[in-house]
Amino acid sequence: MTVLTPTDHRRDVAGYTYVYPVVSRRAGGVSVGINLNPNNACNWACIYCQVPNLVRGAAPKIDIAQLEAELREFLGQVLHGDWLDRHVPGGMRQLQDIAFSGNGEPTSAEEFPAVIETVQRVLQDLGLLGKLKVRLITNGSLMHRESVLEAIGRLATMNGEVWFKVDRATATGMAEINQVEGNVEGAKRRLLACVAHCPTWLQTCWFAIDGLAPPETEVMAYLELIRSVALDIQGVHLYGIARQPMQPGAEHLSALSEDALLAYGERIRALGVTVNVSP
Ligand code: SF4
Repeated sequence: MTVLTPTDHRRDVAGYTYVYPVVSRRAGGVSVGINLNPNNACNWACIYCQVPNLVRGAAPKIDIAQLEAELREFLGQVLHGDWLDRHVPGGMRQLQDIAFSGNGEPTSAEEFPAVIETVQRVLQDLGLLGKLKVRLITNGSLMHRESVLEAIGRLATMNGEVWFKVDRATATGMAEINQVEGNVEGAKRRLLACVAHCPTWLQTCWFAIDGLAPPETEVMAYLELIRSVALDIQGVHLYGIARQPMQPGAEHLSALSEDALLAYGERIRALGVTVNVSP
């Protein structure tokens, strides 16, 4: 018997390619993860990324039939079998959500729209549609693609929401942290396109580099971006690096103190934005 603890987020525990369970103490239950990047490929290379052996690239071809079979089987075991009893500590034996959160950027999968349709159909068939939140964790870089925007429009009809990554709001900051050519106006355009199709939270990861907190110029630029979209977004998830980064140079990164992260949260909240801080 394998008991998943809240810190045990192994993706292969159920022996699937695309579907993996995560027990979340914070959420108080089981999140069903969908990993569209079993090849560990992302078009970004964030310096704090926790994906082991991360490579640059896009998701591989997705076997939709296999993904559907895995999701049906796993949800069936949870709903009608004893999977929760066998694997999840007491008090957390309930399904919380479905999360597209894998080892790379999920929207880079060509089949992403078909995957969303498939998940919708499975949830409908199992009587779960609308009852579980369906969450897309994304770096937002492909939100200019019509096919991706249409898909997240569908997500919105499925009790869905997007968590859109914004760690920095300057070109140099984005280049340093996300290791992409920074274009703040482009990122904001994509964010607003996303917001127009689906309820959207920002997800922001802050930490120290060589013991130094983000420079105040970066914090100010970030707050200015938040101010400009405050009425459009659902809020901000501000989190630290609770788990070990897996990229070269990770030894230079360290978590900020809880007080420091909470203080940043207060500065964001002062803009009239809902903020959840996870040190
Ligand atoms: S966008 Fe996500 S998966 Fe991609 S490099 Fe950054 S943290 Fe890793």
